[in-house]
Amino acid sequence: MRIVFIGPPGAGKGTQCARLTGFLGIPHLSTGEILRVAKQNETPLGRVVGPIMDSGELVSDDLMMGVISERLAHADCRDGYLLDGFPRTVPQAEALCVWIQATGQRLDHVIELRVDKDELRNRLSMRFRNLSNPRADDRPELIIQRLLVYQMETKPLVNFYAARDGLLKTINGIGTMDDVFHRILVAIGLEKPAR
Ligand code: AMP
Repeated sequence: MRIVFIGPPGAGKGTQCARLTGFLGIPHLSTGEILRVAKQNETPLGRVVGPIMDSGELVSDDLMMGVISERLAHADCRDGYLLDGFPRTVPQAEALCVWIQATGQRLDHVIELRVDKDELRNRLSMRFRNLSNPRADDRPELIIQRLLVYQMETKPLVNFYAARDGLLKTINGIGTMDDVFHRILVAIGLEKPAR
């Protein structure tokens, strides 16, 4: 199964993606994680993307397409994968479409996890306060910036994918982790709705 997962920072995307990939037995490709590892290891890529990530801005589409196409070419992606944090812009989504078609594959589902802005701000500032080693980009002043970038650059993907028959599944991200996971499984046809 090939899945794209979309959601603003703080929506619980990481947790649900980890759970879903564990359930389906497919690799979890998080571009944020790939970049954080590169940054930590001070690779040439890491040195370029580090300051961009710390400012809450997006890395360029060309660079990201290079990163993800290299990762998608690995053997473990042959039978499916979940993309978390990619695509993040309409040009990235267009480039992904071209890449997928060229490799004779197709996307099965695009899952949008939706949580309203006030709830997101609360969750993100709580995450920052509660973690002993919070992410640099979880600083409260950057939260607003990252939410703004999501709204401007990534939210348009919802319309982009809504225009493709049956691909987009919008999930209410408010509730317990189990509730949200159940909604996702129902939306992709793997579980029946609770009565
Ligand atoms: P994330 O962990 O997905 O929130 O990503 C952390 C940071 O990595 C983002 O704020 C961006 O700076 C960068 N990043 C991750 N994925 C992408 C992408 N697809 N396009 C551009 N920048 C990205």
